[in-house]
Amino acid sequence: MKEALYEKSNKCPICSNSFYSKKVRVSACRIDKRYEDFCISYKDINPLHYEILVCPHCGYAASENSFEKLSTKELHAIKDILSGKVVNRNFCVERSTNDALDSFKLALFFAKSRNAKNSIVAGLALKLAWIYREMKDEREHDFLLYALENYRIAYDKEDLPLGNLNEISVQYLLGELSRRLHKFSDAVFWFNKAVTNPERINNPRIEKLAREQWYDAKEQCKKI
Ligand SMILES: [Zn+2]
Repeated sequence: MKEALYEKSNKCPICSNSFYSKKVRVSACRIDKRYEDFCISYKDINPLHYEILVCPHCGYAASENSFEKLSTKELHAIKDILSGKVVNRNFCVERSTNDALDSFKLALFFAKSRNAKNSIVAGLALKLAWIYREMKDEREHDFLLYALENYRIAYDKEDLPLGNLNEISVQYLLGELSRRLHKFSDAVFWFNKAVTNPERINNPRIEKLAREQWYDAKEQCKKI
């Protein structure tokens, strides 16, 4: 398991200290199962566990692609929050599932503190839900709901794509999160949007998933 990890050097934008974090080699990632909400479960080691960088010096945490991207205002807001705080936990080691969970909770806390876009908050909440799923903990549903609410706002307010989610993928994901939360008529509404979206021509996998899940949600609606 240990050789699956390597070390990457980082510099913290808050305290200016350098630190090494663990990353998972792509060659060590073996897919076990793909869920319909884009969650992937892995056989040995889950790269999601190492997605959040946590500075061992000051405690600041964010996903790798947003770690250093801070405006001056955000920088000051986070420095204020961390001022005088003592960090007594190191995430720069092999992480347990519980460590991964807490790293995402920290990232979500700092994202909220930075007034991050709803799509960023939604993405973190969704991944937190996936880690709870891995732990077979029903708090998964609290974070799926939080992700759904934030993606819903982002869909209305933000420019598309939302990160790597184009319009049809967002519509599909809104449908799938609704379906998982037993909001079946909402799910049918969003899957309908996805299967009639002109982008489906270039996104056959999403179209296929949307048709399958639309059918399932429709059947569930009939039962109710
Ligand atoms: Zn730091």
